[in-house]
Amino acid sequence: TEQTTGNPFWSPAVAKLQPYVPGEQPKSTARLIKLNTNESPYPPSPKAQAVLTAEGIGEHLRLYPDPESTELRATIAAQFGLTPEQVFVGNGSDEVLAHAFYSFFQRPEPLLFPDITYSFYPVYCQFYGIDSHQLPLRDDFSIDVADYNIENAGGVILPNPNAPTGRYLPLADIEKLLQMHPQRVVVIDEAYIDFGGDSAVSLIERYPNLLVVHTLSKSHALAGLRLGYAMGQAHLIEGLNRAKNSFNSYPIDSIAQKVATAAIADRAWLVDNCAKVIATREHTCAALSAMGFDIIPSTANFIFAKPPGVSAEVLFEALRARNIIIRYFNKPRISEYLRISIGTDEEMDALIEACREVL
Ligand code: PMP
Repeated sequence: TEQTTGNPFWSPAVAKLQPYVPGEQPKSTARLIKLNTNESPYPPSPKAQAVLTAEGIGEHLRLYPDPESTELRATIAAQFGLTPEQVFVGNGSDEVLAHAFYSFFQRPEPLLFPDITYSFYPVYCQFYGIDSHQLPLRDDFSIDVADYNIENAGGVILPNPNAPTGRYLPLADIEKLLQMHPQRVVVIDEAYIDFGGDSAVSLIERYPNLLVVHTLSKSHALAGLRLGYAMGQAHLIEGLNRAKNSFNSYPIDSIAQKVATAAIADRAWLVDNCAKVIATREHTCAALSAMGFDIIPSTANFIFAKPPGVSAEVLFEALRARNIIIRYFNKPRISEYLRISIGTDEEMDALIEACREVL
């Protein structure tokens, strides 16, 4: 019956798919403090914004975009000490991840990832018919890489820092994963790496099976642009290109190519923006800890916290009634915790004050 639920016109493959419930994106944020989808509270680099008002930018749209995003890939490569052949770009890191699942993980063996992690991984597994083996986190939500020493795995994927926990896995542990699965791809999804951890990019030269994925949606404050990229040895990037070109998926539009190039080149802005978010995160953690919250150590632009004396769901609803939206997960083990994106200092002070009132 599961195969045939839905619409008679849908193929059985589509009828089997679960509807995806995205994080709440309210139409108007005028009266809201929006701390639910890990966006940046500050606008993007002025140099990236300037592209949009540059002379002739609109006229330029009569031409098709560069299908290879040549300048953008060269700029990313230069930032990380790589060559352009080691860089793949996509419309958001979600699209990059979709190509990675298709290119590397469609195998008879199961893909390994943590049981508490980015909610899209199981969605892609379902979409591409990939089996998964989800490994439990420790009680403190850390990852024990020894659990991943499983023969006949189809690959490994994990976010570092993990989402929604914010916990960071040291590079020495990532190296262990790479060594355990030398014949399979290990994808490290570094959506939040700029907020404190060391990037695995430094390992690319030594590990032919490592793919590192980044996004401009968080630390670069460009969630609306839809730009993500993967870095790895050229043979992995070639695999992604084959999948993308055969599927004929969209190239990056020409305006996004230019804005992203300017954003990535403005390293000083990125460092400064992340420093502000980190300082606000530490201040927020200190204030919530003092109120009795249990906070998982975070190296991301969000925190994962369990409120004292009241359920996470009750606090979530009470904050919602005060026009503050955060993220509540109605799932085993994590339903006691709330994920709170880091906003401006004023927004976090309003959150802290509202928590104090409710508690
Ligand atoms: N990976 C992780 C771990 C994320 O949390 C997100 C954002 N929800 C993404 C990838 C996707 O980001 P985007 O498609 O905006 O690049």
